Amino acid sequence: MAVDYLRLSLTDRCNLNCVYCTPREKSGYLKHEDLLRHEELARAAAAFVRAGVKKIRLTGGEPLLRKNVVGLVKMLKAIPGLKELALTTNGLLLADLAGPLREAGLDRVNVSLDTLKKDVFRKITGGAGLDKVRSGIAAALSAGFAEVKLNVVLMKGVNDAEAAAFARLSLKLPLNVRFIEFYPTNERSSRLKGALVTTADTKRRIEEELGPLQRVPASAADGPASVYKLRGADGKIGFISGRSDYFCGACNRVRMDCTGRIYPCLFSPATHSLRDLLRAAAPDAALDDCLQKAFLVKSRYKKDSPTAGNIEMSSLGG
Ligand code: SAM
Repeated sequence: MAVDYLRLSLTDRCNLNCVYCTPREKSGYLKHEDLLRHEELARAAAAFVRAGVKKIRLTGGEPLLRKNVVGLVKMLKAIPGLKELALTTNGLLLADLAGPLREAGLDRVNVSLDTLKKDVFRKITGGAGLDKVRSGIAAALSAGFAEVKLNVVLMKGVNDAEAAAFARLSLKLPLNVRFIEFYPTNERSSRLKGALVTTADTKRRIEEELGPLQRVPASAADGPASVYKLRGADGKIGFISGRSDYFCGACNRVRMDCTGRIYPCLFSPATHSLRDLLRAAAPDAALDDCLQKAFLVKSRYKKDSPTAGNIEMSSLGG
């Protein structure tokens, strides 16, 4: 499958410390000078677009912590040939930024939220801020994005009883609520191994409380999700079954971290880097050559590749 989707991590910093994501109590972050500057990110992104990428999703860490993220969105949106620019955020800073981001050209936004209860929010994220996230979602819904998605990771005995409460949000709001199967990625999250709630379990809980889910045709923006609707709903409900359903064959994505390292697969090590080329002001042809080589090795890796080791979701962005 051709690579046409880049997940671009803007920072390794996050203002939350989710149990299933951050590998440890953060002891330190990358130095400022290690991060690609805005101009370098834009030049790298333009090279990915020349290599066939049509859609870029900004992630992190928490991408809204990046200084002048609105200015960066404007720069990226101006890349000729880029069809869609999206962002995934924990929503803490979204209330003030949703409008400016939309004006700067951001097309879509995903907000990650795993609970509607304050005490559970603190338990999962290690912090407070549920009200801020809810204001962020409201701001995103009124800012005029093509779509607002809610990413929900359910864990057994923690928040799985909230499946129907999340699904219910899609009844009244034009939200696409997506349940993402928990994936143990590092030492800390591996301790939660028994926490997996499968798509089948989540569907069953939703249907028991809210009636049958009706399958709807997935659009390109739904990626690997299978998509449904509750009768009479404004929004949709999607399921990403990374654990219970194998979808490597349909993978069209590649990742770059905030230092310019390229990960052809979430389960591969970084195989190539653009940073030295960018800092040596190498010509476009050298960047293009580096990307071609990175894309070529993609097929060597698969879900659960023995090469995987720790996956730094918290800095690479999922
Ligand atoms: N800070 C941003 C946010 O919260 O959306 C972007 C980065 S976060 C790593 C991106 C997504 O990865 C979130 O939706 C999060 O729930 C998901 N994620 C992180 N670790 C995961 C895991 N072990 N299993 C499944 N999803 C995970």
